[in-house]
Amino acid sequence: MGFSRNDHLFDSKEFHERFYTAVPLGVFLSEEGTVFRLWAPTAQSVTLRLYLRGDHCTVSEQFQMSLWKKGVWEYKTDRLLRGVYYDYMLIVDGESFCSADPYCRACGLNGERSMIPDPSETDPEGWGADTSPAKPDCDIIYELHVKDFSWDPNGGFFDRDRGRFSALKQEGTTLNHSGLYPTGLDYLKRLGITHVQILPMYDYGSVNEAEPEKGYNWGYDPVNYNVPEGSYSSDPYNGAVRIRELKEMILQLHRAGLRVIMDVVYNHTYDLESPLFKTAPWYFYRQNEDGSPSNGSGCGNDIASERSMCSRYILDSVLYWAEEYHIDGFRFDLMGLLDQELMEQIRRELDARYGMGEKLVYGEPWSAGPTAHRPGTILCHKGNLKQIHEGIGAFCDDTRDLVKGSVMDVDSVGFVNGNPIPAELLGKCLTAWTGEDGVFRNAGQSICYLSCHDDWTLWDKLVYTMDPKKDFCGSEAVILQANRLAAAIHFCCQGRLFLHAGEEFGRTKGGVKNSYCSSAEINQIDWTRAWKHEGLVDYYRGLIALRKQLPWTKDLSEQGKQRLLWVENETPFCALACVNNEGADSLWDNLLLIFNCGQTLVETKLPEGKWQILVDGESSFLWKEEHSISGSCSVPPKTAQVLGAKRRDLS
Ligand code: CA
Repeated sequence: MGFSRNDHLFDSKEFHERFYTAVPLGVFLSEEGTVFRLWAPTAQSVTLRLYLRGDHCTVSEQFQMSLWKKGVWEYKTDRLLRGVYYDYMLIVDGESFCSADPYCRACGLNGERSMIPDPSETDPEGWGADTSPAKPDCDIIYELHVKDFSWDPNGGFFDRDRGRFSALKQEGTTLNHSGLYPTGLDYLKRLGITHVQILPMYDYGSVNEAEPEKGYNWGYDPVNYNVPEGSYSSDPYNGAVRIRELKEMILQLHRAGLRVIMDVVYNHTYDLESPLFKTAPWYFYRQNEDGSPSNGSGCGNDIASERSMCSRYILDSVLYWAEEYHIDGFRFDLMGLLDQELMEQIRRELDARYGMGEKLVYGEPWSAGPTAHRPGTILCHKGNLKQIHEGIGAFCDDTRDLVKGSVMDVDSVGFVNGNPIPAELLGKCLTAWTGEDGVFRNAGQSICYLSCHDDWTLWDKLVYTMDPKKDFCGSEAVILQANRLAAAIHFCCQGRLFLHAGEEFGRTKGGVKNSYCSSAEINQIDWTRAWKHEGLVDYYRGLIALRKQLPWTKDLSEQGKQRLLWVENETPFCALACVNNEGADSLWDNLLLIFNCGQTLVETKLPEGKWQILVDGESSFLWKEEHSISGSCSVPPKTAQVLGAKRRDLS
């Protein structure tokens, strides 16, 4: 395929006026029959081909499509083609392309052919009555990968469920079927999280669905945007099965009280052999001056989200997942490549359909490099967040890197593993980098995290920087202590809290930084380790339960920042902050947060009055007891203390 520049054509007003259309695209079944519609504005001819199967086998029938209007090709029949597989053969500029339908809702093996799903086969029992759990007032988002979650043979899952959607709906699983330690869904429920964010679960290209046990990938390589991934299903050949199994998973997660957030990757496709490319060559992609594909994604191509039929495609896809799969939120990969107009339109449409803020929308406010967008396009990167709709959130890399060191440099350290903790920087972390000199409009926009699937796990970063033996699989007391301190700081910050699955049990990938295509064994959740580090898990559980009761952390408003009353240093390595925690049913009007990141015990004077210890370096459940102190408090090295007081107990 040669490179030629098409941006002057595709970015032009004339092209938009001639070809932009809101007419529904894809395949539609009704009593009158079946209608196929494909937007292919530059095609000279389009042929619809039908198949009895989604993989091998030859064309069973084919039909010439007719150009209807606005670049839309159509074929109508009075037959009901339920369960039939299909693709398109297009001629564009003399070149022929065989493509799946970009709007397809089901597909066969590896997404090569599209399929017309039969609704009676795709909706599990009870799906019609499925509702999301009530919107929590304190979001604790837990990021997991379908295969990681249940691949460990010790996880207590049936073999047939391991690595699949179906494992996430199993209740009653325990470590090695021992009955002693909960795993899987029961573990998540016990942890107290409110949302699961699932790494890409739409159809991606890097794992051969015929042999899923032989491949592993995070899945940031989309093929069919509106279809679930086949390697997570029990039958990737039958297009209906993956849909039903994903819905069963979501149904069960909802019943368990968990909201479901989908990781969506609209910034690039697996490659340029995509249905978007083949049905409208180059329209959906940004191009460099020399005609080569723009590569701000670092994955070989960038989607041109600013073009009207492209933004329509992305919006349609998001709305489809929300409607058809009851998805509660969307995490946009490399959102810094997507444009403001699109993201705000997504926000507005979701709000209009489901209620203000009912669906979460946030993303990574960066890209892997510069992108060749249409001039004048405003991208959703970090520097622009304050001018973007406040209902569009973004990951906060500043807090992440300050607490434990930069993700760019393995040796760099943060508060908990060697650096001082200056009061001013702690204050910014606590108030989520809001305010005039901040990054976010309000704390609701900030996704506050220490680690995610990218880069070293929190545990591995701590081992790299604190353990001379580099014993990733070990359980060094100093690492556990630093992990608890990091968690305590994290949980005291305003914003929406985000956890990488397993962070709460010292998850290790053996020091591997970028495990996107490492083995499943490197990536999997090690349920034995979760049990072994039960104490650390309990520390996170206590912090989660406490955070849900704190008006301080739940205040996501623009004024929330003012709740920080003062923050100061006791020593360069020990900082204290006092915050206003008033609110309905609040048990403590004021909180005193003390973080001793140093190597020595710090004796600090307390503000006058009686203070209850809520959290110390060992336990995060002290708030359940009535243990009060006054005068002063001693904070052991590398530990946090969170104290609370009622106004009447303060003088
Ligand atoms: Ca796939």
